Amino acid sequence: MSRLPTPASDRTSRWHLMLVANVDLRHARAMSRRDDAKERLRREREELELRKKAEREARREAQRQSSLAGATAAAERRASTPPSPMAEPQPTFGEMLAATGLLKNASIATRQLNDVHAKEVANYARAKLKVISCTSCAAPKGCCRISVGVQLYEAVPIAARLIGEGRDTPELRAILEAAATSMEMTSRSDYDAPCVFLDSAERCSVYEDRPSECGKHFVFSDPALCSSSDPDARVEGVLPPPELAIRPFELEKRFSVEARLHTSDQPYHGALPRMVLVCLEAWNRRDYVEFLARKVPKLSRRFDIAIGGVSRALL
Ligand code: SF4
Ligand code: SF4
Repeated sequence: MSRLPTPASDRTSRWHLMLVANVDLRHARAMSRRDDAKERLRREREELELRKKAEREARREAQRQSSLAGATAAAERRASTPPSPMAEPQPTFGEMLAATGLLKNASIATRQLNDVHAKEVANYARAKLKVISCTSCAAPKGCCRISVGVQLYEAVPIAARLIGEGRDTPELRAILEAAATSMEMTSRSDYDAPCVFLDSAERCSVYEDRPSECGKHFVFSDPALCSSSDPDARVEGVLPPPELAIRPFELEKRFSVEARLHTSDQPYHGALPRMVLVCLEAWNRRDYVEFLARKVPKLSRRFDIAIGGVSRALL
């Protein structure tokens, strides 16, 4: 088979192809080298970023450790330093009530609730064409011979009033103690003794600050019936609406939270003379939180059992 000579144009084009191929190869190699360089640069940048990040983290951790050590040392110094004689002393119960405004608020809350009761009853009486006997009562106060339960906040304005009027004496405290013990040991139906705040003229000596249990008490029948011993005597009265009846419990919860008296949900309540007495006893104490927590719950339980009619043998 004869080999035909390659035409010059063919040779040129093959040469050209080889040249192009060589150029492409060189170009591809150059591109590859450039890509490698770019990749290396990218990796170096990434490593640099990571190193910087690690250094920043290490600096932050060192700062955190140093401030933690500083705070711990300061706390240890505070704990080992005896209290300075110039440091603010813990306020007493009376000081705390005055400084926080709780004394004023307790008084306002008590008076407002009694006013609301009075208005409700007046509206009811108008609607039913009845006459409220209490507003003009001159009879012996049968309503003030009952066992009265109060919340602690209601006793606060009464205690403040007794202190302000110079009535907080050892004799009064002894009378309050005796009346409280009697109320805590006697069922409601059996209790029959004049309130310690009822004066010789049969008037309430703490009337403006009387608790809601007294403030909601209104009758329409003959005042004489209130202290009648006749078993057939029927006293006609009216109970406050349920939303008003629960107000003292809500107010006591708020009071005990704002006064930071205790952390439990159990409100402080009990017999009227007991709650007034514990307020008087706590008034000048700086440890009033512990004092009230130690004293009130067990007396509240005792009163609850008494008014619930539970046998005294359970006490
Ligand atoms: S409840 Fe009876 S005794 Fe008491 S103030 Fe009213 S009317 Fe008088
Ligand atoms: S506090 Fe006043 S209104 Fe209440 S029972 Fe005593 S005397 Fe009566």
